[in-house]
Amino acid sequence: MLSRACLQGVRRGVHVFKRFNSTLVVVEHNNEKLTPITLHAITAATKLGGEVSCLVAGSQCAKVAEEVSKVAGVKKVLLADSDAFKGFLPEALTPLVLATQSQFKFTHILAGATALGKSLAPRVAAKLDVSAISDIIGIQSPDTFVRTIYAGNAIQTLKSNDSVKVITVRGTAFDAADADSGSAAQEEAPAATPSATSEFVSQELSKSDRPDLTSAKSVISGGRGMKNGENFKMLYDLADKMGAAVGASRAAVDAGFVPNDMQVGQTGKIVAPDLYIAVGISGAIQHLAGMKDSKIIVAINKDPEAPIFQVADYGLVADLFKVVPEMSALVDKK
Ligand code: FAD
Repeated sequence: MLSRACLQGVRRGVHVFKRFNSTLVVVEHNNEKLTPITLHAITAATKLGGEVSCLVAGSQCAKVAEEVSKVAGVKKVLLADSDAFKGFLPEALTPLVLATQSQFKFTHILAGATALGKSLAPRVAAKLDVSAISDIIGIQSPDTFVRTIYAGNAIQTLKSNDSVKVITVRGTAFDAADADSGSAAQEEAPAATPSATSEFVSQELSKSDRPDLTSAKSVISGGRGMKNGENFKMLYDLADKMGAAVGASRAAVDAGFVPNDMQVGQTGKIVAPDLYIAVGISGAIQHLAGMKDSKIIVAINKDPEAPIFQVADYGLVADLFKVVPEMSALVDKK
C-alpha cells in the first residue's frame, strides 16, 4: 500500500521516489593494464548499491576498457581514447569527468586515494560545488562514510548532504573485485573540451624490478637507523630474495637515503601487505598511519622502548647491522 505522503505526491505530480544510486569509478591504468587500486574502488562502488560505470581515459587504452568490462559488478565502461589524456593529467581529466557527470548524473564519483585520485577529486568536486570526501575506509550507507583522522589514531563517520558525492577510496580498506566474471557494455565517453591551461610534455618513471610498494605482499622498510643510503643495499638484497618491495620512513627520505616515492606513512604511501618488516624505524604515528593495517608486522630496533614494538606482532631488539645480514643468510639456506 502506498503511504499518504506518497499518494499526495503522486496526486500533485511530484516525484516522490528516491533517486537511484549510480556510481562512476575513474579507472587508473597505464594504457596497457589496470592499476590494482581500481579493483578496490570498484568493490567500494558496489557497496553503494545501484549501477557502477567505469571511465577509462587514456591514449591507445582500448585494452584497458576490455579488461574493465570483465570486472564483476561493472555495468558500463565509458572509453575516452585520445592523445589529450597522455600523462593522465588531472587538468585534462577534470573536464572529461565533468562532461560525463553532466550527461549521466551519477550520485557518486569514486577514484582511488592515489596521487591521481587525490589531485583529480578536489578539482571535480570544486567544479561541481560539492566537498571532496577523501580516503574513505568504510561505507555505512550511500551518504555516510568512514575515514581515519589524526594520523590514523581516530575514526570519523561523516554524513554528506551533497547531491553528488566525490570520493577517494583507500585501496587497502576494500577487497579487490573479481577481475574475471563481469560482462559490461562499452560505449564512448562524452566529448570534453580539453584543458587549455596545461599540456603534457614528458615523464620519467622510476624503473624497478621489485614489486610495487602499494600492492606487494611483503614490504621491508628502513628508517633513520639505516644511517645512510648505501646501507639500504642490505634491505634490497633481502627484499629481492623474498620478492618483497622496499619502503622507508620519512626521516630516511628527508635525509636523502632513498627517493621519496619509497616513503610509507601519512604523507607517503599507505600499505597493508601480508608482511611488513620495519628496520631501524621508531614507529612515529605518522609512519604507523601508513602501515599499521599490515597483517603481520615485524620490528627490528635496538631500542626496546621504541613505539614500533607496540604495533609489532614480532619484535627483535637487536642491532640491524648484525641481524639483517643474518636473515639474508638464512633465506639463502632455504
Ligand atoms: P627515528 O625516529 O630517528 O628512529 C630511528 C630508529 O632507528 C630509532 O628507534 C632507533 O632506536 C633505531 N636504530 C638506530 N640505529 C639502529 C641500529 N643499528 N639497529 C636497530 N635500530 C636502530 N614519517 C614517516 O615515516 N612517514 C610519513 O608519511 C610521515 N609524515 C609526516 C607528516 C607530518 C605532518 C609530520 C609532522 C611528520 C611526518 N613523519 C612521517 C615523520 C615522523 O614524525 C618521524 O619523524 C619519522 O617517521 C621518524 O623516522 P624514523 O623512525 O626512521 O627515525
